Amino acid sequence: MQSIYGITLLKLEQEMLELGEKKFKALQIYDWLYKKRVSSFDDMSNLKKELISKLKTKYFFESLKLIDKLEDEFVSKFLFKLNDGNKIEAVLMRHDYGNSLCVSTEVGCNMGCAFCESGRLKKVRVLEVNEMVEQILFIENNLNIRISHVVLMGIGEPFDNYNNVMDFIKIINEPKGIALGARHITISTCGIIPKIKDFMKENLQVNLAISLHAPNNELRNRLMPINKAYPLEDLISILKEYVKKTHRRLTFEYIMLKDINDTKECALELVDLLKGINCYVNLIPYNETSHIEFKRSSNDSVMKFYDILKKNGLAVTVRREFGSKVMAACGQLRSHYEEG
Ligand code: SAH
Repeated sequence: MQSIYGITLLKLEQEMLELGEKKFKALQIYDWLYKKRVSSFDDMSNLKKELISKLKTKYFFESLKLIDKLEDEFVSKFLFKLNDGNKIEAVLMRHDYGNSLCVSTEVGCNMGCAFCESGRLKKVRVLEVNEMVEQILFIENNLNIRISHVVLMGIGEPFDNYNNVMDFIKIINEPKGIALGARHITISTCGIIPKIKDFMKENLQVNLAISLHAPNNELRNRLMPINKAYPLEDLISILKEYVKKTHRRLTFEYIMLKDINDTKECALELVDLLKGINCYVNLIPYNETSHIEFKRSSNDSVMKFYDILKKNGLAVTVRREFGSKVMAACGQLRSHYEEG
């Protein structure tokens, strides 16, 4: 058995042919699943009984169970249990431009970034395609909203689950299905170079965000162990290629950690590093967590840092803060439950 929510339209068309059915049956099923949003084959009233029986032996529906939901005016945070008992989070943020969902891609994470709560709990497994798709379907249904933007910035490293993430994107981008525009989808990575190369070849309009967090190898090695495998000069060089080939603007995420990476020297080094790249820098106020010693930079330091980047010609924004009241700081809700 496999989940019906994990199959791309192309694959479902092939599977219909294999079942001796017409290809367009796949389109009808997609319409029921993603436009009409039914959750059983019995509700698909234009399918014949025989086909429904065959489908029931091959595919199942839900695999997410809600265990907790925390909300304030702007954020709804969901904790789900998967079929095998593992837990994942998803966070819905209400912006003035729409509803953005932060999706998890793995159970835990092996990247081991020093400041990150998710990475304290090591990777158990990658998420299946349907487990990512269902985060969207469940939350749209639960809150009675439409999600306009999806960011792969929840628990896990999307490029450590590359194939499933690409299928996930194909499914939610499918015009005959959820029809989420590629330009409304953002993949965030800590910088796994071979996968950035693969991603470049996909020819997608999906946005790419790089978790940078430091302007030199010495500091980045301390904050992000992945930098030892893929150092900054190599990362920047492949990213320049990416911009040249795709003509897409890159996002660099930069968490502001007090007295660690928020100094004037760091700002100037960052300017040098990113000069000439079509990009913008998103400065992120650090969400402190009780297990990790890093502190957030003061507003004053953030603004000074911002000014230096701006004056030197970099496009820069400070991320609006969401969710510290509802434990939305990356992985906090899950670790709260896992550790009691
Ligand atoms: N592994 C991917 C995506 C998940 S992390 C990546 O590294 O990009 C998503 C973003 O949240 C990253 O930029 C990460 O560095 C940041 N982040 C992690 N912990 C945080 C915290 N406590 N406060 C603010 N941002 C955090």
